[in-house]
Amino acid sequence: LLIVPVPFRFDNSYSRLPATFFENIVPTPVKNPETIRLNEELAAELGADLDTLRSDVGTKILAGNQVADGSEPIAMAYSGHQFGGFSPQLGDGRAILLGEVVRSDGVRFDIQLKGSGQTPFSRRGDGRSALGPVLREYIVSEAMHALGVPTTRSLAAVTTGQPVFREGPIPGGVLTRVARSHVRIGTFQWFAARSQDDDVKTLADYVIDRHYPEAKEDPHPYRSLFDRVVQRQASLIAHWMQLGFIHGVMNTDNMSVSGETIDYGPCAFMDVYHPGKTFSSIDQQGRYAFANQSPIGHWNLARFAETLLPLLADTEEEAVEIATASLDKFPPIHREEMRSRFYAKIGISKNSGLDSDNHDSDWDLVDGLLSIMADGHADFTLVFRNLSVALEQNNALPVSKWFDEPDVFAGWFDKWRQRLEGVDRSAAIELMRTHNPIYIPRNHRVEQAIESGYRGDFQPFHQLVDLLRKPFDEQPEFSEYENPPEAHEVVQATFC
Ligand code: AMP
Ligand code: MG
Ligand code: MG
Repeated sequence: LLIVPVPFRFDNSYSRLPATFFENIVPTPVKNPETIRLNEELAAELGADLDTLRSDVGTKILAGNQVADGSEPIAMAYSGHQFGGFSPQLGDGRAILLGEVVRSDGVRFDIQLKGSGQTPFSRRGDGRSALGPVLREYIVSEAMHALGVPTTRSLAAVTTGQPVFREGPIPGGVLTRVARSHVRIGTFQWFAARSQDDDVKTLADYVIDRHYPEAKEDPHPYRSLFDRVVQRQASLIAHWMQLGFIHGVMNTDNMSVSGETIDYGPCAFMDVYHPGKTFSSIDQQGRYAFANQSPIGHWNLARFAETLLPLLADTEEEAVEIATASLDKFPPIHREEMRSRFYAKIGISKNSGLDSDNHDSDWDLVDGLLSIMADGHADFTLVFRNLSVALEQNNALPVSKWFDEPDVFAGWFDKWRQRLEGVDRSAAIELMRTHNPIYIPRNHRVEQAIESGYRGDFQPFHQLVDLLRKPFDEQPEFSEYENPPEAHEVVQATFC
């Protein structure tokens, strides 16, 4: 009796949708796949068979060299606004959805390979990924998860044993990505741009079933769907900003309707704070700069609304009115999320005995700190992290030393301490420690991990992934990972 190992219990829903939604395509095998890292904890959570995934067969499946039983590989169709201009024909050009699994609590996840070969959507691309972007996505997406941010996850990274050709030949890789789904704003745009109203409705029903079942209770499920996507995006972007994260390519094809962070390309965490900061080598105009992420999120949702208009009301006029009313909620929701997150970063919350409801001046306090940080080239992560240390020690130095001119912090420190009078100190410190990470995937560390990986040494990659599993906890053996880059280590630009 031959027992065929099955790593995942696939239960595929997207491939049951109309044929216009995707193209059937199997991954293209690679020469000599080797597993760099398997996320065993995540695999177990998904009910995957670990023995199979750890085996040679597992490596073959994670590299696309073998199609597992029950997998129905497809490339999804989507369009998107890229840097403001509409591209009707995008789609999975270097990604293939192997299928879906349902976790024990009923949540459904996509299992997708990134870099697994050409698809009908590849246009002129090779369908491949270099090793660097695979390692970057693994590190950053898993760190984002540990930081508490809704995100796609990384299940595995493999090397292919064959080069991809960019400026020259470089080692290739394949990432296995896990997501609540890969439906993007751009997926809706694909059908709307082709005036396929029935398909827009089918997709909206699919998304409601999969991500927003509560919307079905509403007398107007599609209006409720839109409202809920607005809410989740407003919250997600505030969460990024709490941590100094810059997505880098907020094109509408990179915005998941489930509210997860998706598509880690030239993303980065800021070292020195500046609201206008960008890293992406392709973002010359600063469209996706740190502080622009909120208005861009809002703009992207307006593009989403356009695709839903036929579902929102009987007349276009009424539909526009309804969509506008929902869109208008984005700025206040986002602002409230930003406030509660940044208040927590400086120890202010009802839990620490300080109610900011009637204190507009609390935002002035946050804003005042950010503004001297920008002027004084202060490290975003270390300033916030050390506020609790400064409070405990009643000493500005642990924070002020990160400013060009330490004295500028003293004035703010006094105002802050006045505001904290009467605070429950241990509650405030706990709040700050759980909202201000000590470790982030600093760009220079990510670059070092990638460079070593290209030389075949994955130890720095593993170390970084390991320590970022607990970004809020001091890990004395890894203390050098707290540090900002030395002048010669500063990463100016990131590439996808
Ligand atoms: P992204 O920059 O990842 O958001 O990708 C934008 C579009 O370009 C998507 O349709 C991708 O599938 C496609 N794409 C990016 N890189 C490649 C590649 N190497 N081969 C084929 N398609 C690609
Ligand atoms: Mg098709
Ligand atoms: Mg993309």
